[in-house]
Amino acid sequence: MFTLIDGQAVAANIKTTIAEKLATYKLKNGSVPTLAVFIVGDNPASKVYVAGKERATELVGIRSIVERLPQDTTEAQLIAKIAEHNADDSIHGILVQLPLPTHIDAMRVTIAIAPEKDVDGFHPVNVGLLSIGTPQFIPCTPYGIMKLLETYNINPAGKLAVIVGRSNIVGKPIANLLLQADATVALCHSKTSDLKELCKQADILIAAVGKPNVITREYVKSGAVVIDVGINRLADGKLCGDVDFESVNKVASAITPVPKGVGPMTIAMLMQNTLEAYERFAGNNP
Ligand code: NAP
Repeated sequence: MFTLIDGQAVAANIKTTIAEKLATYKLKNGSVPTLAVFIVGDNPASKVYVAGKERATELVGIRSIVERLPQDTTEAQLIAKIAEHNADDSIHGILVQLPLPTHIDAMRVTIAIAPEKDVDGFHPVNVGLLSIGTPQFIPCTPYGIMKLLETYNINPAGKLAVIVGRSNIVGKPIANLLLQADATVALCHSKTSDLKELCKQADILIAAVGKPNVITREYVKSGAVVIDVGINRLADGKLCGDVDFESVNKVASAITPVPKGVGPMTIAMLMQNTLEAYERFAGNNP
């Protein structure tokens, strides 16, 4: 049986559950979880992503503060603003939309966010906690992938999971999560030899490459579960993933489409992380 994994529907359910929970919290004590988002400069893709995050916060009942800073903002100015939000008890989650202008060091900025408000899960403290299996925040995209697998009863235990792409925001954390879910994990990259042969053995194949349609049918074992993280914009303006959907869906047992696969889950899990930050701040029973 073939399954089209519907990330949009799963994300909608998650957001509804969060909205219901927040409505009861609001009735109880009137407090509102708050997410602060920093965007520096005019990157068009970043603007689209931030707008999507703002829409989701409105939908679930999270208050959002978007700090739009000019392109020439200095690293020190940005870090000073983050420090203000770190010290503000009415703000529960903070994220800085990447990429930042080249004159700002993204890692120094990430480290400036208080780990207990780091809803993206990129702070080294949160990376470390995740890697030893006691996460405080799970980065949103890998968190979303694990939720999709869980929702569709795909248990990674004992399976061979092959991940193509070793970024800090997708590849490495999903490798860790799958390992903790008892999969055997191969984390691949641009220097991996025999990538096709390796991918072909995968029970779960995750593509996080950032190149349109690089994973074709020849890379996929019959019956494999294929998760496409890639978001690539083609010359005609259409979005496509890293997986050649039209050929791979003929061999995979389950596959995420692009759009409406992993993308909506990333935003839903950001809402979930903000809720979790708020619940921890308020003592788990706001
Ligand atoms: P990234 O930091 O650019 O990393 C890409 C990875 O792919 C690197 O590890 C690179 O290897 C590897 N790679 C590149 N070409 C390859 C090839 N031909 N064969 C094997 N590996 C290759 O990317 P990212 O930030 O993880 O994002 C990956 C994709 O996911 C992008 O399209 C991005 O837009 C998308 N994305 C989507 C979401 C979502 O919500 N759906 C969230 C985040 C990212 P090296 O390390 O050797 O260079």
